[in-house]
Amino acid sequence: MSAEDKRLESLKAVLRANLDIVRERVDKALEKSNDPGRKVTIVAVSKRQSVEKIRILSEVGHMDFGESYVQEAEEKMHNLKDLKLRMHFIGALQTNKARFVAGKYTLVHSVGSVKLARYLHKKAQGLEKVQPVLIQVNLAGEEQKAGVTLQGLTDLATEICNLRSLRLQGLMIMPPFSDDPEKSRPYFAGLRRCRNQLEKDLGLVLPDLSMGMSNDYAVAVEEGANLVRVGTTLFGPRTAI
Ligand SMILES: *Cc1c(COP(=O)(O)O)cnc(C)c1O
Repeated sequence: MSAEDKRLESLKAVLRANLDIVRERVDKALEKSNDPGRKVTIVAVSKRQSVEKIRILSEVGHMDFGESYVQEAEEKMHNLKDLKLRMHFIGALQTNKARFVAGKYTLVHSVGSVKLARYLHKKAQGLEKVQPVLIQVNLAGEEQKAGVTLQGLTDLATEICNLRSLRLQGLMIMPPFSDDPEKSRPYFAGLRRCRNQLEKDLGLVLPDLSMGMSNDYAVAVEEGANLVRVGTTLFGPRTAI
């Protein structure tokens, strides 16, 4: 075996082991949750991670990846277009970049305004596509954070339901950062209650709750997440921009 083959083999072993650890913790958390039979998708957050690592994870059967930066994601998706990956857009999105995203992702997790929703709709419509989306909710009301506040949630959901080229599938949250995962729990439980209330109020079915990152995904699954967004725990540290 060449040195290069050895390097690739050991990288593959590391990534597979990391994925197995996350999957096991997800399964344990599922058992503790109210709905242990549901499917939880691990979105491997590959922003500022190499195309090589994405390829290797896909070789062990992992197909869901999350990207945050439009330009970086464009280049990677071009490089990886031979693979049938399910790409998730999870980052902050400016309206002037909506055209790079609409109609191109399995799921956009980060719709936080009526303005962005309308742009995405227009661009998806132009491509004759329907773009599945989640609403990002800023439950803590943090000023610098993306996402719609609780007060604006019903209006935004109503608006999206009227945009025929978007399909609203659920909610996403990024709680205030803390080293202690238990600090995230009230936000995760809160998002689940928001989802349940919206379903009742608007007569919708919203299956998706995207919550939990490397430090708190187990708590998120206990509280009802069916999509967790895990980056550094899977891939190791990100490279600088
Ligand atoms: C970067 C990012 C993640 C992953 O963060 P890790 O701590 O590396 O797991 C998850 N969600 C969003 C929205 C992100 O931007």
